Amino acid sequence: MAVDPQVTQIIEGAAKQKTPLGKQYLGPLASGLTFAVLLWAMLQEMMRPDAMRMTSWCAPYIIVTSYMYCDYWLWMLHCFLDREENLKSVLGPIKVLAQSFQDHHDVPATLLKGNHLGEIEDIVSLVGAMALILGYWTSPSTKLIMAGISFWGAVGGLNHFYCHAKTHGYQIPGIVWAGQEYGMLPTPAHHKRHHTSPHQEKWNFLNGLYKFYEFVYKGTGSSYNALFVMFYTCNPVSMQIWTLMLGIFA
Ligand SMILES: [Zn+2]
Ligand SMILES: [Zn+2]
Repeated sequence: MAVDPQVTQIIEGAAKQKTPLGKQYLGPLASGLTFAVLLWAMLQEMMRPDAMRMTSWCAPYIIVTSYMYCDYWLWMLHCFLDREENLKSVLGPIKVLAQSFQDHHDVPATLLKGNHLGEIEDIVSLVGAMALILGYWTSPSTKLIMAGISFWGAVGGLNHFYCHAKTHGYQIPGIVWAGQEYGMLPTPAHHKRHHTSPHQEKWNFLNGLYKFYEFVYKGTGSSYNALFVMFYTCNPVSMQIWTLMLGIFA
């Protein structure tokens, strides 16, 4: 039976057409609170006497500190939420988050349709709200570090989304491609190792000290209790309180 070449072309074209990727964005609450922290930092800096102004060292200090902390936090959060113990957590939101993290191992492609970046809306809002509550006592550089943590968190979340998009043959933004190509962000191949059962490595969303964290974690016999304590004390909301009280981030 002869097939019309035009029909063949139409069929091939339809097969190549992919479902569009979900739009990635942060909601107005998370963006607004983070912007308010940034604005406060800038106004506070402008009103300070010259002797107290930031030096040129402050920029690398803020960038590196926020990146390294966020790398640790995202690694620890992911490792903790991947633990089966949390599927029975008495805290509803933790139970839901653990389920969603663990479901992602089995059905990774579902993330491509939704707003994956929007999933960090609540935590970014809480980080911003806490930074504003403590803002009277904190310096401009501490405020910028807190905004920086949310920024790197968004970078890590977006990169995760584009890792999966690339694996499924989608074009990814040039800046994300460059970040992966030049070793600043995890690549799809790296993240794929995490998606390989039993999902006991490569919990990182940024390229920081994950090898060290995994070494220590395995050294503790994959201690759930250590992760539990770290998750509730070293998350970017509660961490702001005790680092201020101890004078680490004043
Ligand atoms: Zn996982
Ligand atoms: Zn994934």
